[in-house]
Amino acid sequence: MMDMNIQYLQGVGPRRAALLKSELEIETVRDLLSQYPFRYIDRTSFHRIADIVPDQAYIQIKAAVKSVKLLGKKGDTLDPSSAPKGAVNRLSAIVEDDSGEIEVVFFKGIKWMVTRLVVGRVFVFFGKPSVFNGHINLVHPEVDDPDVSAKGGLSGVYASTEKLKNGGITGKVMAKLVASALDMVLPTLKDSLPDYILKEKGLVPLSFALRQIHFPTDQNSLAKASYRLKFEELFLLQLSLLKQKYVRSRIETGIQMNRVGEAFNLCYNSLPYQLTGAQKRVIREIREDMKSGRQMNRLLQGDVGSGKTMVAVLSSLIAVGNGYQACIMAPTEVLAEQHFANVSRYLEPTGVKVVLLTGATGVKARREIHSGLLDGSIGIIIGTHALIEDTVAFKNLGLAVVDEQHRFGVEQRAKLWNKGAGGVAPHVLVMTATPIPRTLAMTLYGDLDVSVIDEMPPGRKPVITNQFGENKRMALHKFMRDQIALGRQIFVVYPLIFESEKLDYQNLEKGYEEIVEAFPLPKYKVAIVHGRQTSEEKNFNMSAFAAGRADILVSTTVIEVGVDVPNASVMVIESAERFGLSQLHQLRGRVGRGSESSYCILMKGQKVSKESQKRLDLLCSTENGFVLAEEDMKMRGPGDLEGTQQSGLPIKLNIASLARDGLILSDARNYAAHILDDDPSLTSAKNTCLLEELRKDRYQVKDYSKIS
Ligand code: ADP
Ligand code: MG
Repeated sequence: MMDMNIQYLQGVGPRRAALLKSELEIETVRDLLSQYPFRYIDRTSFHRIADIVPDQAYIQIKAAVKSVKLLGKKGDTLDPSSAPKGAVNRLSAIVEDDSGEIEVVFFKGIKWMVTRLVVGRVFVFFGKPSVFNGHINLVHPEVDDPDVSAKGGLSGVYASTEKLKNGGITGKVMAKLVASALDMVLPTLKDSLPDYILKEKGLVPLSFALRQIHFPTDQNSLAKASYRLKFEELFLLQLSLLKQKYVRSRIETGIQMNRVGEAFNLCYNSLPYQLTGAQKRVIREIREDMKSGRQMNRLLQGDVGSGKTMVAVLSSLIAVGNGYQACIMAPTEVLAEQHFANVSRYLEPTGVKVVLLTGATGVKARREIHSGLLDGSIGIIIGTHALIEDTVAFKNLGLAVVDEQHRFGVEQRAKLWNKGAGGVAPHVLVMTATPIPRTLAMTLYGDLDVSVIDEMPPGRKPVITNQFGENKRMALHKFMRDQIALGRQIFVVYPLIFESEKLDYQNLEKGYEEIVEAFPLPKYKVAIVHGRQTSEEKNFNMSAFAAGRADILVSTTVIEVGVDVPNASVMVIESAERFGLSQLHQLRGRVGRGSESSYCILMKGQKVSKESQKRLDLLCSTENGFVLAEEDMKMRGPGDLEGTQQSGLPIKLNIASLARDGLILSDARNYAAHILDDDPSLTSAKNTCLLEELRKDRYQVKDYSKIS
């Protein structure tokens, strides 16, 4: 009955069915019952008007209409019957209860509201108080008759649209349809979770949950219902992701690397610093994977500067110590060169041969590298995408490290898989500096193991972050000159989010000219890097800056990924309000790598939305990338988070939220793992209903492990 077409439900019919489908994608009874109210109004408790303060969360008052006025743009009062079309700017009503009065304002839907708000009548107003001209008011509150209160005091509010309302499907009608669907379905409803799970996890039955989520009798029952539905949703999702992982780990064997090896110890013992606790923990996790006999598929997250390179080096040395080769891939030539310089230093005491291969490698050197890889004399190779060209073959590749995963495509990754020793896929370690909230990582990379470096090497100075308006540009230039006089270098970044956008490009050009004018030759040298340059031009300019031959680097976000210029101590971000939070954080991470104090200056445009301002304030308040990522997710929702757009979420969550339900998610994931431990393919009798649930379309999630 759940799958019955909605049109046959009492009170629907073909016309309303079409509307429900086009507006809310409701086709079946199940779809209708899965449209949970997005909010509940407690009809039994009201605020006193006298107690309302600005910036309160939503409030509900029961108040009588005292007066209603239509106002023009200049605040002039208009006559409702004769006001010319377009002259009315807003409706302002004064409403009162025993304690006082408050203004209620509408800018839209005025024609209807003016007939509804009859002086003397009592309504329930629900909204968020705001302040205008020093007075508290309610702008566009919901207006309800007091008698629509639900029996138990809580009444659900359903998502609606203008078209639905016009088509006669108001919130009230929606509630009626849901009620009749429940009456029809519940008596014979089979629970989607087996009894033993309900018992073990203390969950209420599905029929109770569905009834209560739509028509709660009280807060407590509503909480139980919502918990049950959230748990079920997250549990089935994790079950489906983990099941794939279990199946894969049994089919695909990996290269077993039993030893740590001498090279590892030689390198480890001559490190110029102590590894942080987080680095040690992550290396242990990787070591366990590599000796498990299963193929490692691990995502390593760590903020910019957290010391991921060292982890890559030590992991590579484990491979070498077991007689295998390792490769480390970077997204750009400059980064590959930088890695090569660093890694070579770390490897000196070990005698392991390491080489660099990029697009710039000459023909002769390339030939030598190819043969060194084939005969096994090269232990570690570092490079760009060029590394996975077809002509590159290894004697026995055992580990591939991929730095900054977002820049690597699916196909490139697939090629890597085919280069493993004896046809066995190499262990794969993907490193990213884009912190992804834990809950999102568990879902997005549900069957990938995730390690996190959540600790910075000691001694890093905080980056002093400030917001400047256009009126401070002169002060900014002075500050930049002072820093250059101290021998420091400066990044100036422009938003060029879509590199093809002409307007953005003009902004960059204009900005560059301005800088060149303010910082003229021969005293100052300014370099520029952007997406329209050839890669030679980009590399040339970037290297000039990295080598200290330019004082200022004007660029688009192409510098976002990984370049290390310890002498650069200032990051100026133009039109900072246009960047996303994690992007801003990444950019800021480019400075503060040296021993000097460093600065990040956020230049703001004229108009900054409330939301953007909140982002900038947050950035100024913390340097912890994970905190920022969590906040970003709360503000924008997980689907919009940077780095997740391409891959998207595996399923659309209906009731659970990755931003708010992290605890339920971890619990559901552990529980799913526990069930799969006993019954990996879910074939035992008590679990057959789970298998049935997983067959539903929404849980047919993609296998992300080989994509990330
Ligand atoms: P990431 O790649 O994670 O952004 P890096 O690996 O480039 O960071 O490390 C940043 C800097 O910190 C490097 O200069 C590195 O030598 C240094 N570093 C790494 N680990 C430590 C440590 N445990 N103690 C002190 N310095 C460290
Ligand atoms: Mg790095």
